[in-house]
Amino acid sequence: MIELPIREPCDLCVAAREERWKIIEEGEHTLTVINPRQFEVGQCCVITRRHVATLLDLSQQECEAVLISAKRVAQALVLTYRPLGILTFQNNGVYSGQETPHFHFHVVPRQRGSDWGVGPPQLATFDGAGRERGSSHEPSGDAQRRERVQASAKRLTETVNLIRSNLPG
Ligand SMILES: [Zn+2]
Repeated sequence: MIELPIREPCDLCVAAREERWKIIEEGEHTLTVINPRQFEVGQCCVITRRHVATLLDLSQQECEAVLISAKRVAQALVLTYRPLGILTFQNNGVYSGQETPHFHFHVVPRQRGSDWGVGPPQLATFDGAGRERGSSHEPSGDAQRRERVQASAKRLTETVNLIRSNLPG
């Protein structure tokens, strides 16, 4: 049984409903949204419209829509930022580093000298990824780095508009 993180209200449902400025693109099954924590400038996530937690919960249509949306925004990120690479990843359960119980697929333009605190490079060992069983996510151990990469609404809006302008037609 995969243990899910606890977050109420769900920040991704709130973003979809009330923080429309975070949305880069939307489709029938997915939304592409900016990540408020810009470990890399331009990093974003493709989320499902439905509040479902993990890959295991997705319908066939959602599976297809997620990867199509991820490819579209990856194309825009390449045009916008000329990154050295595009990292995609997706966490299922607290022991994989999932922090919000709403499916999200990360699409990240990687640049030299980035400042990752959490994410695949830091999940090389299981102990590094794991949380205490039964506890909600408590990110205080990584608080400083998170603080540093928390972007303002103004900067996020500018980033959203820039990426959106480079989406394929
Ligand atoms: Zn949600």
